[in-house]
Amino acid sequence: IFITLEGGDGAGKTTQASLLEEWFQSQGRDVVRTREPGGTPLGVEIREMVLHSRGHIDERAEALLYAADRAQHIETLVRPALADGKVVIQDRYFDSSVAYQGVARDLGADRVRGLSLWATRDLLPDLTILLDLSVEDGRARLEALGKRFDRLEAEAAAFHERVRQAFLDLAAAEPERFLVLDATQSPQALAAAIRERLESSGIL
Ligand code: C5P
Ligand code: MG
Repeated sequence: IFITLEGGDGAGKTTQASLLEEWFQSQGRDVVRTREPGGTPLGVEIREMVLHSRGHIDERAEALLYAADRAQHIETLVRPALADGKVVIQDRYFDSSVAYQGVARDLGADRVRGLSLWATRDLLPDLTILLDLSVEDGRARLEALGKRFDRLEAEAAAFHERVRQAFLDLAAAEPERFLVLDATQSPQALAAAIRERLESSGIL
């Protein structure tokens, strides 16, 4: 079972990934928790390059770095885990690239999706959870956490608005794959909604 979490920064993807991992483990399932970018040793290096590079990164170069991270990650970690019958819970996947690079950076949603699918040999998630949150609320949560802002988090609010709308459009286009949740709900309420979808969808 391959489950991905998407949404803007501060939406609560990490919290939901943890709760979902605990739930699957309580059901006796083996879980691999991972993320993009940075789910492999090579990916950690790419993550540092793309998020903390000092100079300007050309947007095509940026898209290709994410695609390289993704290829390595899916091939060396995710596919083997799925082949072993494990549950993979992944923080961000290609929908992030479509939203950030394809739409917000204007490279084209279809092209970026195509690039990602090439990189992953067409691996699609069984379920993608979109945690939808306003840009202001996401920003406020990050500030409350006192986190160091990376290059992308420091982008203007308009950029993040485009990302938010892009995620919602992606979800609307593929309602069978996506579960869209209002991320202002409590972590427990969100976790319950995710379990309900899993139980009713036949994915388990
Ligand atoms: O969620 P996480 O903190 O791992 O994401 C790191 C940063 O990379 C975020 O600021 C996100 O906006 C950005 N990102 C991106 N394109 C992707 C994946 C992540 O711009 N495909
Ligand atoms: Mg972040």
